[in-house]
Amino acid sequence: MTDRLPFTLDDAKRWREQCPTPFYIYDEAGIRKCVTDLYKAFSWNPGFKEYFAVKATPTPAILRLLHSMGCGCDCASAPEVLMSRRCGIQGSEIMFSSNETRPVEYRAAHEAGAIINLDDLTQIEIMEKACGIPETVCCRFNPGTFRNTNDIMGHQYDSKFGMTRPQLFEALRTLRDKGAKRLGVHAMLASCSLDNGYYPALARELFALALELRKADVHLDFIDLSGGLGIPYQPWERPVDIFAIGEGVRKVYDEMLTANGISLSLFMEMGRYITGPYGYLLTTAIGKKHIYKEYIGVDASASDLMRPAMYGAYHHITVLGKEYAPADTTVDIVGSLCENNDKFAVNRPMPAIEDGDILVIQDAGAHGHAMGYNYNGRLRCAEMLLSEDGSVRMIRRAETIDDYFATLDVDSEFVRA
Ligand SMILES: *Cc1c(COP(=O)(O)O)cnc(C)c1O
Repeated sequence: MTDRLPFTLDDAKRWREQCPTPFYIYDEAGIRKCVTDLYKAFSWNPGFKEYFAVKATPTPAILRLLHSMGCGCDCASAPEVLMSRRCGIQGSEIMFSSNETRPVEYRAAHEAGAIINLDDLTQIEIMEKACGIPETVCCRFNPGTFRNTNDIMGHQYDSKFGMTRPQLFEALRTLRDKGAKRLGVHAMLASCSLDNGYYPALARELFALALELRKADVHLDFIDLSGGLGIPYQPWERPVDIFAIGEGVRKVYDEMLTANGISLSLFMEMGRYITGPYGYLLTTAIGKKHIYKEYIGVDASASDLMRPAMYGAYHHITVLGKEYAPADTTVDIVGSLCENNDKFAVNRPMPAIEDGDILVIQDAGAHGHAMGYNYNGRLRCAEMLLSEDGSVRMIRRAETIDDYFATLDVDSEFVRA
């Protein structure tokens, strides 16, 4: 959460006249600074690249903005690949990290020229049949145990992702023998980690693997450190220090690789860290209810932002114009879905909220609009981009009732059959 929003009550009131709440707004300046700092922190590495995890914010204007700053896309499905291509992102700027992958999805990734990141040994044959063996291939590693993981990810031996060490060796050797020219290894062993030591520890694990693979005559061209950095959702949490992380990884790199005459490119696939703190859901207070508890009703609901309902996730909420008012009421802030978990906050100390107040739900820039849905006939809300010059642009309109009918193509062959 932030104490300093990049907009004021007057700004929000003006926007609300143009576009009714709820809507998302993304802060371009915040996203730009985040990406600039990331590239600075890893500028020592030749070929360093961030592949933005599309699932976090699958919004074309955001993908284009990130691409203009040198980011590629990390895609987990064929539609994500197609969306990236339509945004002008293709070839080795797409990392395709999928699991339980269908042949059509391999073909979509291959046609885009994407780097394919294989989740399992058995996928080699499926991929080969679907699209052949590409020149560049990556394999996903699951070490079984990893000291620096966190609760969200759980133990690696409980994780469905990646290959064991012997499988990984076999996969890479097989791919090399079948003609793959450039090989990489990928691992994602934490989620939402605020530990500055996570990436250095992951790098140590994967660099050791690279050295072992050399002994087996498998030479890696890149290592994909994937995503997993967290953001401070809670007021008492502190953001990670990306420069300390870059420096920590550099030390391990120099010690283990440079010292052995090895140079390889590092990739990342962060999502949450890049956009999470820079997206806000704006919603208007529309009612108060006093029964056994105090409720504040708002015009957004869990169908706009699912994280609190789904994981009990904390999102800090600011009432515009009342930032410094004492938080002397305790309320539940709720939406209108016919589901009792449709609550953005439970027992939250807040300043006194009146109808018409604009509430800012913070840290909604990743897995926010992306996880929106249509329950109770709710229409997914608009997305706006706050540019560096202070102007605001709608980058996705709200759905309309016609969108519900747009998929009912009663003339299709399938329906007739
Ligand atoms: C979800 C995911 C990411 C991004 O994770 P963040 O926590 O948003 O950084 C990257 N790579 C893969 C394969 C993922 O599944």
